[in-house]
Amino acid sequence: MTARLIDGIAAAAAVRASVAIAAAAFCATTGRPPGLAVVLVGDDAASSVYVCAKGKAALAAGIYNVSHPLPAETSEADLLALIRSLNVDPAIDGILVQLPLPPQIDPGRVIAAIDPDKDVDGFHVANVGRLCVGAEALVPCTPLGCLQLLKTTLGDLVGLDAIVIGRSNIVGKPMALLLLAESATVTIAHSHTRDLPALVRRADIVIAAVGRAEMVRGDWIKPGACVIDVGINRVGGRLVGDVAFGEVTKVAGAITPVPGGVGPMTIAMLLRNTLLAAHRRSGLAVPVNL
Ligand code: NDP
Repeated sequence: MTARLIDGIAAAAAVRASVAIAAAAFCATTGRPPGLAVVLVGDDAASSVYVCAKGKAALAAGIYNVSHPLPAETSEADLLALIRSLNVDPAIDGILVQLPLPPQIDPGRVIAAIDPDKDVDGFHVANVGRLCVGAEALVPCTPLGCLQLLKTTLGDLVGLDAIVIGRSNIVGKPMALLLLAESATVTIAHSHTRDLPALVRRADIVIAAVGRAEMVRGDWIKPGACVIDVGINRVGGRLVGDVAFGEVTKVAGAITPVPGGVGPMTIAMLLRNTLLAAHRRSGLAVPVNL
C-alpha cells in the first residue's frame, strides 16, 4: 500500500480563501476589518520567521495586522502594559504573543493577562477550560488544523481509535480533547508510556507531536491508519517530522508530509481564530463555511 498524501498547503489555501471572504463581509458590516496584534519579544530567528509569515498571511486575507517587535531586554511589566492596552483596543480582535519569551518574562503571567476573547492562540486557562467542558472556546491553532485535516480525510471520527503521542499544552492535550469531542477513543502517550509501538499499532488515527526526528516507525502502524505528523525537526539541514515517512507511507492509508502538512494549517487556523474572535466580540453570527 502507498499512503495517500494529505496536502496541507491546499487545505490551508482553502481555509485562507474562506477567511478572506468572511473578513470582507465583516468589514462591510462593521466598517472595519478584523484586527490581529502580534507581539514579538527579542530577535529569535525562528520566531521572527513565524511572525513575518503570520503577518503576511493576515494581510493577504484582509485582516488588519499590527506587529509589536520589542527588544529582548523588555521587562515583564512593560509587556503586560502593552497587552492591557491591546485588550481594550477596539480595532484589535486577536492578540498573539510569540513564544518562547526571554527568561525575565513569565509566559504563564503573560498568557493570563490576555483577554480570553482575544486569545487567538487558545492558551489562556479560560479557553482551555471551555474546550474541556465543550463550551465555545478559542482552540490552539495546530491541533485545530490537525482536526480539520483528519475530518477532510476520514469524515466522521466517531468510535475510531486515536493515539496522540505528546501531551504538551499547545498540541497534545488540546488535540486529545478535540478528538474526544468527535467521539474518538483517545489514548495520550508521553515519555513514560510503556510499549508505545503496541499502543500505536491499535490506532486508526496517529498524531505524532513529540519533537523527535522519525521516531514513529513503519512497523508501529496499523495498515490503513491515518497519520498526522506534527513534528518539525531539522536534521542535516533538512526538515523531517516525528514519523519515518518512507517506511510509514508503505503501511498507512493517509499521511501528512513534513513540510507541507500541518505547518501551513497552523497559520490558516490563526486567521480563522481571528475571524471567530472578531464575530463573537461584535455579536455577529459566525459564517457557516468559516
Ligand atoms: P513539547 O516538547 O512541549 O512536548 C513533547 C511531548 O512529547 C511531551 O509530552 C513528551 O513527553 C513527549 N515525548 C518526548 N519523548 C517521547 C518519547 N520517547 N515517547 C513518547 N513521548 C515522548 O513539544 P510540542 O508539543 O510543543 O511540539 C511537538 C513537535 O511539534 C515539535 O517537533 C514541534 O516543533 C512541533 N510543532 C509543530 C507545529 C506546526 O505548526 N507544525 C506547531 C507546534 C509544534 P513528557 O510530557 O513526558 O515529557
